[in-house]
Amino acid sequence: MSSQNTTARAENSSVNTNSKIKKCPGKDTFQRMNYLYQACNATATENAASNSASILYSNLLVAISKKAVQRLDIDLKRTLCKGCRSLLLAGVNCKVRIKKKRSIWICTNCSTSKVFDLRNPDYQPWPQQAESLVEVIDYKND
Ligand SMILES: [Zn+2]
Repeated sequence: MSSQNTTARAENSSVNTNSKIKKCPGKDTFQRMNYLYQACNATATENAASNSASILYSNLLVAISKKAVQRLDIDLKRTLCKGCRSLLLAGVNCKVRIKKKRSIWICTNCSTSKVFDLRNPDYQPWPQQAESLVEVIDYKND
């Protein structure tokens, strides 16, 4: 009996030390989104059937990010078509044109275009600016 109590106390103390480590809210969701984006990239260019699988993965990726209210990174989001959500690969399934100092990415599946302004070379989106960084949390692999 007494040995069980000591083990229970030991477990409680280990729980207390673990609570000092900051937890990442939605870590599993981030991992799932990361995996889906990698699967989307891997299956995008093999053949037509795998391209539809890639679109399925990216649709799932966007749906998960909306459901969990966790935004996609801007570099990741810019590679997905707004219309059909296929992965935009320049020269493979999208046309890239530069007109009037604007980069226009046109999806060949659905003809939806994304326009990126190139007039201000110093422009950085908010997530990539230093002021947007509030805290860096280092997670241990456990
Ligand atoms: Zn598209």
